[in-house]
Amino acid sequence: MAVTHVRPDDRLHLQSIASLFGAASKIVTVTGAGISTKAGIPDFRSENGVYSLGHRRLFSSSVLSDPERRPLFYNGITKMRQVVNRASPTRTHRFILSLRDAGKLVRDYTQNIDCLEEKVGLSTDLRKGPGRKHVRGHHRVDYEPRLQERGVECILLHGSLRRLRCSNCFSTCCWDEDGREAKTLAGQEPPCPGCAEISEARTAAGKRATAIGTLRPDIVLYDEQDPWADLISAIARHDLLQRPDVLLIMGTSLATHGVKHLVKDFAKIIHKRAGKVVFVNLTEPARNWEGVIDYWVEWDCDAWVQDLTNRQPALCSGSIPRVLIDLTGNGEHVNTMASRGYDGGKGGSRDNPIDLTLS
Ligand SMILES: [Zn+2]
Repeated sequence: MAVTHVRPDDRLHLQSIASLFGAASKIVTVTGAGISTKAGIPDFRSENGVYSLGHRRLFSSSVLSDPERRPLFYNGITKMRQVVNRASPTRTHRFILSLRDAGKLVRDYTQNIDCLEEKVGLSTDLRKGPGRKHVRGHHRVDYEPRLQERGVECILLHGSLRRLRCSNCFSTCCWDEDGREAKTLAGQEPPCPGCAEISEARTAAGKRATAIGTLRPDIVLYDEQDPWADLISAIARHDLLQRPDVLLIMGTSLATHGVKHLVKDFAKIIHKRAGKVVFVNLTEPARNWEGVIDYWVEWDCDAWVQDLTNRQPALCSGSIPRVLIDLTGNGEHVNTMASRGYDGGKGGSRDNPIDLTLS
């Protein structure tokens, strides 16, 4: 079936989509860089994105074994993290939180590594597992420390810039402690404190010292296997069994292999239940998405979210200011409360093959 193209002035279809969200009880979201550009975080694939500046080579997995490019990578990724740390979640991030608060969110899957989902208050801790809700008999999986009611709410498909990971023991540690940020900014790889502790304990006991690994960002680079891939796959399978009724894709060109599969798997289940797949992006989906995507909303994500929550106020649960006046009569609204801003949130990998792409 052809994709229905919905423009900002297409009130009829926008209303149909809003009704869909009002009636839906199990919504899965898949997001990309387009939901974070308003937060000032660059899109990797857009015309003005990081790739266009010639940095694409820096994000292939080979960079870690290349003594010439590695310092540039560490320096660049640290600067990017500094931008990310200063950023605040957008209206779209808050909308996803609202879906959770309304009890409609099955899970949010994001390709972004900026952690704005955490800032808005969504849990990204995979160790929480899928949560108890809707868990069925033989598909139950044991997670440590214990299954929690909500489970992990947002899956970071490509990891995040929050922590560093040891290339030897795979444990993660805080990027902001022990001068690690200054080291990575200077293009250096900090040593792993976990490995160092083990080695020191051994030498103190008169045993042979062991290797101390180096730390790298806890993200998934091109051609890399995600260390959490099995756990993420298990959670995705769990979510497919929930039989969601809406898949909402926002701010992504769906270019990465792993995300393509994820979207197609969810779309198949959703269509069996006469549910819908809604794609909100400024760029048109490729022809091969016909039969997968039902609606293409050609609009900025934040603007569409504002329109949607205006049409379905119950969706916003008080976390998104309502637009009170429609001055233009064509779906463009004036937000009389926008100047209140946002306090940055008080809240609080991945698929295969996966890259660092934010889009
Ligand atoms: Zn280590």
